[in-house]
Amino acid sequence: MAEETIFTKIINGEIPADKIYEDDLCIAINDIAPRAPVHVLVIPKKPIPRLVDASEEDQAILGHLMLAAGEVARQQGVGDAFRLVVNNGADAGQTVFHLHLHIIGGTSFSEASLAGE
Ligand code: 5GP
Repeated sequence: MAEETIFTKIINGEIPADKIYEDDLCIAINDIAPRAPVHVLVIPKKPIPRLVDASEEDQAILGHLMLAAGEVARQQGVGDAFRLVVNNGADAGQTVFHLHLHIIGGTSFSEASLAGE
């Protein structure tokens, strides 16, 4: 079994986090090292390591994460302009191997930044 990640510990209340949303399937927390005025992580309670590790049975969870992200973005006042980022794999910048969506908002976006630096 995969080792417990920091996000599982946050979900279980073992370590503190700035939680701004929770429902049956996911939580949303402010990123500890925000890269924009709004930088929130939407994290499924199920510890799926990477997006590519999700399967058919996770379809409802994946859809739910998108809906929750929209709701949280609205709550944070960036519902009209935000980006959702999923880093899949270490070479793509993933550092915590528990699937999460980054909501990035409150900043101006350039098309070029989509493809990294
Ligand atoms: P990744 O690079 O895996 O896509 O994103 C992991 C994110 O989790 C990073 O943006 C990092 O700042 C954030 N992070 C790592 N540890 C913690 C923590 O203990 N608390 C919170 N709130 N965010 C964390």
